[in-house]
Amino acid sequence: METIFCPWAPAKYLIFSSNVPQILYYALIPGMIVSMFLGLFIFLNKKNDLAAKLLLFISTCFFVWGAFSLMLFATNNPQTVMLFWSLTILVEILIYAGSLYLTYVFFDKKDISLFKKTILVLIIASFSIVIPSKYNLVGVNIADCTAIEGPVALYFSYAIEILFACWIFILAISRYIKTTDKYEKKQILLFTAGILIFLLAFSSGNIIGSFTDNWVVSQYGYFGMPIFMGFLAYLIVKYKAFNIRLIATQVLVVSLVILIASQFAFIRNDTNKILTAITLFIAMVFGWILVRSAKKEVKQKEELEIANKEINERKEQLQKMADFLAIANDKLKVLDSAKTEFISMASHQLRTPVTGIKGYLSMLIEGSYGEVNPEQRIALQKTFDSNERMVNLIEDLLNVSRIESGRLEYEFSNVKIEDLCREVVDTLYPKAKNQGLYLDYKKSNIDLPELRIDGGKVKEVISNLLDNAIKYTPRGGVSLVVALCDKNEPNCLSGKHVRITVSDTGIGVPKEEMPYLFEKFSRGKDINRLNTGGTGLGLFVGRKMIEGNGGKVWVESGGKDKGSRFIIELPMQ
Ligand code: ADP
Repeated sequence: METIFCPWAPAKYLIFSSNVPQILYYALIPGMIVSMFLGLFIFLNKKNDLAAKLLLFISTCFFVWGAFSLMLFATNNPQTVMLFWSLTILVEILIYAGSLYLTYVFFDKKDISLFKKTILVLIIASFSIVIPSKYNLVGVNIADCTAIEGPVALYFSYAIEILFACWIFILAISRYIKTTDKYEKKQILLFTAGILIFLLAFSSGNIIGSFTDNWVVSQYGYFGMPIFMGFLAYLIVKYKAFNIRLIATQVLVVSLVILIASQFAFIRNDTNKILTAITLFIAMVFGWILVRSAKKEVKQKEELEIANKEINERKEQLQKMADFLAIANDKLKVLDSAKTEFISMASHQLRTPVTGIKGYLSMLIEGSYGEVNPEQRIALQKTFDSNERMVNLIEDLLNVSRIESGRLEYEFSNVKIEDLCREVVDTLYPKAKNQGLYLDYKKSNIDLPELRIDGGKVKEVISNLLDNAIKYTPRGGVSLVVALCDKNEPNCLSGKHVRITVSDTGIGVPKEEMPYLFEKFSRGKDINRLNTGGTGLGLFVGRKMIEGNGGKVWVESGGKDKGSRFIIELPMQ
């Protein structure tokens, strides 16, 4: 059978046929390209996102549908018209089905059930069966090469489209009522409005064409297509914290360029062509600058976000470490108090036998158990001294444990400090003399008032300072001065203090050791050469005791081998 062609020349370049209304190039082609571009762009950025996949599906269908429409206008072959007309009807249904699917995914944030998928497939399949039949397209009107639509194309296809649109609408209402979240309600409202306007814009042209046979008017509706596609894309990406500003800028620029470029298809006037070329050039240059600056901004934002994330991670790590340290600290406190308890107990147990030894030794030395010869006396004296060191050590340890457990008690009374110092000097005088050192004592010219202090403890401290001075002085001597605090002294804040200074011509204190001298178990590096037995507890205990009496104690020294000055200040009432 010979084919009767429609009465115009076939398209030279497929679609550029004289029969294609020029408005089609301006409305449909840019709409197709922009929608496709949008769908692809979002999909490429969110490949695993189902909503992005569905949007790509819809935009692809729209693109295919547009291409088929163009071919329908371009061809003068009735058989081609029959084929592509049928296919456009099928693609239309696919766009609706895809839109419904997308609505579900957008609202529920998950894929639809297998049951719903089956229903969608069944509807599409049943529709596909009737499409090739004569109930869909009856034939072709040769005069204008349009199909003569049967009941399927005229009523059934539109009925299905209306069904899908209503389905979307009802779904939106139910989800809107269900949710209590204000933000989500707004999202549902915007999405539903967007998708329904998109579908309406799409269908209205076809419905008008079908019932009026004026297929040119319907083309104006395609202007809106990319806008609503963009609208949907925006809603999808907004939910996923996608960078919408960049996408919007890119879409705007590309759409603008495509729209301007598409004018070349129907401009015949040369002046217009030049003007359009200039406009296109300007749009491209400024568009490129705009996209570039948007990209830069996005990059900065992303970097900031990464930095913020890192800061938060660090914060968390620090918090964890702080928690860990707090636990460790608690454990240490428990251990520390156990240690203090142990020292206290052990010292108490040791004190009794050591005191017993001391008593018997001094009786032996004094000859209470019979005369001792000089050799025996020397041996006994050495034993006594060693025992004495042990007594002091135990006393220091007991004091440390009392300080740490807050059990160090003070008994205050009125004490004449000059007398107290005199007693200390008298006790230690023989020791200094034995070592070939001088021991001077200089008291204030004026009579000092009595101090309200714990005399026992202050005596212990002065005695320890003097003992140290003798211990750490190989040559020269030691002096002890008691005076009213002189306001001209740099460390003396007021005249209402009594100052006790123990100075020596000994090994001195190096600068670096000074800050640690009064700490527990702190012993200088240089003392080994003097071979003195010590614990590094005396100054620690001493400082605590002086502070307990409302005073302060510190050291001054010119450095190594330059002697030292230990100064105590006690308040006068
Ligand atoms: P110990 O004398 O038992 O070591 P102290 O707490 O009494 O403990 O003294 C701590 C340290 O301070 C000593 O080890 C020593 O290094 C230093 N020190 C104390 N007095 C003097 C002093 N007069 N001259 C030099 N160094 C001193």
